[in-house]
Amino acid sequence: MQPFDNYAVAPEPAGLRTAYASSLNESRVGEVVQVCGWVNRIREHGEHLVFVDVRDFTGVVQCVVPRSENLHPEWVVQITGTVAERPDGTDNAQLASGRIELRDPTVRVLAEAEPIPFSLDERVELDEATRLRYRYIDLRRTRMQRNLRLRSIVNSAIRHSMEEQGFVEIETPLLWTPTPEGAREFLVPSRTQPQNFYVLPQSPQIAKQLLMVAGFDRYYQIARCLRDEDLRADRQFEFTQLDLEASFVTQSDILNFISHAIRAVVQAVRPETTIAIDTITWRDAMNRYGSDKPDRRFGAQLHDVTSIFSETQVKALNAPSVQAMIAPSPLSRARLDELVDRAKGLGAKGLLWLRVEEIDGQLSLNSPVSKFLADREQQQLVAALGAKANDTILMVADEWERAVTILGQIRLGLGRPLADQNILDFFWVIDFPLFEGLDEFGTPISAHHPFTMPNEDDFARLDTDPLSVRSQSYDLVLNGWELGSGSIRIHTSAIQSKIFEVLGIDEDTARSRFGFLLDAFKYGAPPHGGFAFGIDRLSALLAGEENIRELIAFPKTQSGSDLMTGAPKQVDADILAQLGLQPTARTKD
Ligand code: ASP
Repeated sequence: MQPFDNYAVAPEPAGLRTAYASSLNESRVGEVVQVCGWVNRIREHGEHLVFVDVRDFTGVVQCVVPRSENLHPEWVVQITGTVAERPDGTDNAQLASGRIELRDPTVRVLAEAEPIPFSLDERVELDEATRLRYRYIDLRRTRMQRNLRLRSIVNSAIRHSMEEQGFVEIETPLLWTPTPEGAREFLVPSRTQPQNFYVLPQSPQIAKQLLMVAGFDRYYQIARCLRDEDLRADRQFEFTQLDLEASFVTQSDILNFISHAIRAVVQAVRPETTIAIDTITWRDAMNRYGSDKPDRRFGAQLHDVTSIFSETQVKALNAPSVQAMIAPSPLSRARLDELVDRAKGLGAKGLLWLRVEEIDGQLSLNSPVSKFLADREQQQLVAALGAKANDTILMVADEWERAVTILGQIRLGLGRPLADQNILDFFWVIDFPLFEGLDEFGTPISAHHPFTMPNEDDFARLDTDPLSVRSQSYDLVLNGWELGSGSIRIHTSAIQSKIFEVLGIDEDTARSRFGFLLDAFKYGAPPHGGFAFGIDRLSALLAGEENIRELIAFPKTQSGSDLMTGAPKQVDADILAQLGLQPTARTKD
């Protein structure tokens, strides 16, 4: 096996070929070889000859072909020729095969091709709809070949890591029943039991917990998950995750299993990069970055300056929490006005900005509000932030979570464009709150899913102060993206009933939704926990792509269509009838 650029790994040649394009170089001069592939480009070469570049997945090789051969771009050919050094001065250092060419060829056309609808040249900007309509041609492009091969290497590294750690790969059903991830689900009508539906799984969550009850101890799966949610650049109806569950383990064991897999992936695709996967608590992440998935590739941390303004004259700073940060880059007045609007759009009452100026060796603040700020407040603010001349200080005052979140969003907008693209900043966020808030009736809402184990130290506050209860759940973050999440699960009926009670899920509802899981737990459930991270997003970040569609062979558009196959499509009335369904007038929403 020979590795090439673009993550291509060529096997021993077989079948119609005896060599791959990029494996041909000076060491093979004189050999007669057979290459197969697509005609990439044809160039004039004197009166009787043309240069034909033949492309396979490893790259291209130049063949010197008589003009009399009738060849066109994208025709599929087999060329048998002799490897010869290129004449002096005609080398192409960009190509692995750039010092040789194939001469005296026998050309066999394996398939002709109509002119393709767009150029494969990477420099040409293409409209995504055309790319998706002809995805099989789009995927011939070097960038897409590289992306999908990278993804295959990611999968392979994950599998190796899982096997090394004693995990067993087990497939779980796609035709399933509701799972507790909280997204809208895809339904599949049953033909044999009309009016009944399967649910496509949002994740293998329940199945993997049942496998723990079944004694598999360490399970994993590279699993397809399906969620009927509005699509965005980072979301598809179907996505792939490494799904893992293990028994008789603690949170730190799960973090270690996943860290091992992440290290294996980085080693496989970026061997020159070393990564440290550190841990930060949810509260720290919120306090310092105003986000539970912070981008730490740039500074501009948040500072709690509430106490400085406890007696302030400035009404706007009269709030339970005052958060401040130094902007990561200089900001024009127009930009500051935009930021004020943005903060308001995010729900802030306002955004205060103050410019730090140096006058006669003294730092002072210049801002529409600075004349209302006491000298003491100004000096303490500058000292608390470590501000220097020409810095701009931004502040939001509100209740704590809103203030940090809004300033965190402002921080992200300003800092992300400045972040070093070569850094891979992986880290764990731990100690999430068990509940993300209260619903309109005052009932807590699960932050993860209802099988998440509370932190044992906080059990006592489940009834009295549920929002302060931490969970044994954790997220993995890379460069400000949440790659995945997991938790230690509840495995005893007593705790599970308590959580259902707090969540306002009555026994009948719990039984109808998860009865089979609750039953299984009566027959000896080991303590267990797990995790899942998204392979689409991880691969996209490693490939330097913004959009996960670039890492998916056949993705859907934003509106959920497959432009190549035309799905989703209407079906005939008799097929609906077989499923016990009746067409209704189509409504537009
Ligand atoms: N099932 C969860 C998810 O898909 C992950 C986990 O808790 O293992 O997000």
